[in-house]
Amino acid sequence: MAKNSDLLASLSDVSTESEFFSPLPKGYEKGKTKYCFVVGTVMSGLGKGIFSSCLAKLMQDKGLKVAPIKLEGYLNVDSGTLNPFRHGEVFVLDDGMECDMDLGTYERMLDQDLSKANFTTSGQIFSSVLNKERQGEYLGRDVQMIPHVTGEVKLRLRELAMQSDADIVFVEIGGTVGDLENAYYIEAMRELAYEEGPGSSCFVALTYILKPKTLGEQKSKAAQLGIKQLMQLGIQPEIIACRASSEVTEKVRQKISVYSNVPMDRVISLPDSASIYTIPAMIAEAGLDFKVARLLKIEDRLNLRHERKASAKWCDFTDKISAARREITIGITGKYTSVRDSYASIINALEHAGIALGADAEIKWIDTTGITNSNASQKLANVDGIIVPGGFGTRGAEGKIACIKYAREQNLPYLGLCFGFQMAVIEFARNVCGLTNANSTEIEPNCSEAVIDILPEQKKIEGLGGNMRLGGRDVELKDKTIAWELFNKAKSVRMRFRHRYEVDPRYIEQLEQGGLVFSGKAPDQPIMQILELPNHPFFMGTQAHPCLTSRPLRPHPMFVGLVAAAMQRHWPNENLPDRIKAAQKVCTQGR
Ligand code: GLN
Repeated sequence: MAKNSDLLASLSDVSTESEFFSPLPKGYEKGKTKYCFVVGTVMSGLGKGIFSSCLAKLMQDKGLKVAPIKLEGYLNVDSGTLNPFRHGEVFVLDDGMECDMDLGTYERMLDQDLSKANFTTSGQIFSSVLNKERQGEYLGRDVQMIPHVTGEVKLRLRELAMQSDADIVFVEIGGTVGDLENAYYIEAMRELAYEEGPGSSCFVALTYILKPKTLGEQKSKAAQLGIKQLMQLGIQPEIIACRASSEVTEKVRQKISVYSNVPMDRVISLPDSASIYTIPAMIAEAGLDFKVARLLKIEDRLNLRHERKASAKWCDFTDKISAARREITIGITGKYTSVRDSYASIINALEHAGIALGADAEIKWIDTTGITNSNASQKLANVDGIIVPGGFGTRGAEGKIACIKYAREQNLPYLGLCFGFQMAVIEFARNVCGLTNANSTEIEPNCSEAVIDILPEQKKIEGLGGNMRLGGRDVELKDKTIAWELFNKAKSVRMRFRHRYEVDPRYIEQLEQGGLVFSGKAPDQPIMQILELPNHPFFMGTQAHPCLTSRPLRPHPMFVGLVAAAMQRHWPNENLPDRIKAAQKVCTQGR
C-alpha cells in the first residue's frame, strides 16, 4: 500500500527530469474511483457501448455512482460534422456537445444526463496537447506520445472521476484492438491501471465468435488472436464477453479461457438479443456485476436494497417488452432511410412510448424524393402516423411537405422534429395562409416569403455567423394547449436543440391567424419551438429533438402523444389509453 502512495507522490511531481508525466487533478484521491475499461477485439460493431452501459446500469442499480466515457479515435474535435450515414446519428448533450450515438445509449440506459466530460476524441486530446505545448507547459521537454499524450488521456479520466465523484468510471475505447487510431488510448489505460494499483481497475474484452455457414459450428480462433493482441499490449483482461449470433458453447469458452488466463466463470456468452433492454439481465445472470464489484474491491459499497427496488422497476418494464402488444405502423421520412443508426434516438423513443402504451410501432421508411401531392395518399396508405425527422439541405424537402399536407388534411397523426417542424410551418403557410412562395432560405436562399430563415438577432445572440443553436434550452409552454396538457400542465420544459434556421417572427401573427398554434416558445427570444393544430387528432412539431431525451422508463410525452393517436386511428372503435392521460402519467414519473 505504501508503495502505491509513493508512486502517487512521484506522479504528481511533473518535472522535466521524470519519465512520469501524469499530472493529477488537484485533490485527486487514488482508490476512491475505480475504472472499468471496455475494449473490443476481432471487429467493430460488437456493441461495446451497449455492453458497457448495461454493466454500468447494473452497478448503478446497486446504489453506486457511475460515470461513462467514450474515447473516440478520430481526429474530429466533436461529431458535429460527421455524416450520420457513415457514423450513425449525431447525439447532442444538454451542454451542447455533439457526440457519438453511444452517448445516447448511456443516457438512456442510466437515465442520466451526460456532458462533454463524458466524451473525448483524439482531436480533443491532440488539440489540448498542442495548446499546452504552445503555452510552454511541458517545460522544455520534447513532447511525446508517451508520456504526454497518454498523460492527457489519463488526466481526462481522472478529471471525470473527480468531477462526477463516481464509484466507477466506465471507459469505452472506440474501434478495435490493433487499430493505429486507438493504440495510444489502450497504452494510456495500461498506464492508468498500473498507476492506480491493484484492485483499482478491471479490463473487459468484448470479442466475437464466428460461426461460418459452411461449417455450422462456432470457431474461436479469431477471438483468441484478438485477445492475444491485447495481451501483447501489456493488458491482461479480467473478463471476456463473447458476442455471437447464438449462445456460445462451453467448448469455445473453454478454449478462450485456456488461451487468455481468464477463468471460465469470467468468460461469458452474450448472444444477440432482440432488445437491448434485456441485456442487463443476461449480464446479471452470468453474475458479472458482482464479479466486477469483487475485482474492484467495492463490495462494501453495494446497497442491495437499492438494487431490489431498481431491478423490480426494470423487470416491470422488460415484462412489458415481451408482452403482446398492438402493432401499428409509423412512417418515417428521411434521407438516410437505409441506415437505422442515423435515426437511433427516434427508433428508441418510439419503442419507449410503444412499450408504455402496449403498442409495437413498426417503422416504415419513406423516401420522399418522388412524393408529390398526387401520390402522397398512395405512399402513406398503410401508416397510422408519420414522423418527419431532422434533416439538412434540399433533397426530398418538397416530398416531405406533400406528406405533411396529406397528414394535416387527412387527420393522420403527425410529429415533426426540427426540420419536420420547419417543413410543417412551410406547408401551413403555403396551403392555409396563402403564402404560395413560402419556403426556408436553407432550401431556397432567395425565397420571397421566407417563413423559415436564419435570423439576424439569432446570429448576434448565438455569435459566430449563424452557428448552430445547440444543446438544452427551456421551452415555455402556452396554457391550455395540447403540448401543455401532454407535459402535465408544466410551465416550461427542457428540450435539446440542434438547428440554424427558425420561424421568422414577422410571419407568426399570420400563421396564428390561419389557425396554427405555437404552444412552446423560448422564454427570452421570439423563437417558436412547438407548434400544434387544435382540431386534429395529433399534429405537432417541435424545433427541438425530443427523441434525445426519451428514456425507457420515462418516454417522451410527444412520442407518447403520437403513438397513442396512431393507435386510436388504427382501432377507432376501441377504448384505448387516452393519450393525454398516458403522457401525463409519464411526466409525473419525474420528467
Ligand atoms: N436544417 C435545419 C436547420 O439547420 C434543421 C436542422 C435539424 O433538423 N437538425 O435549422
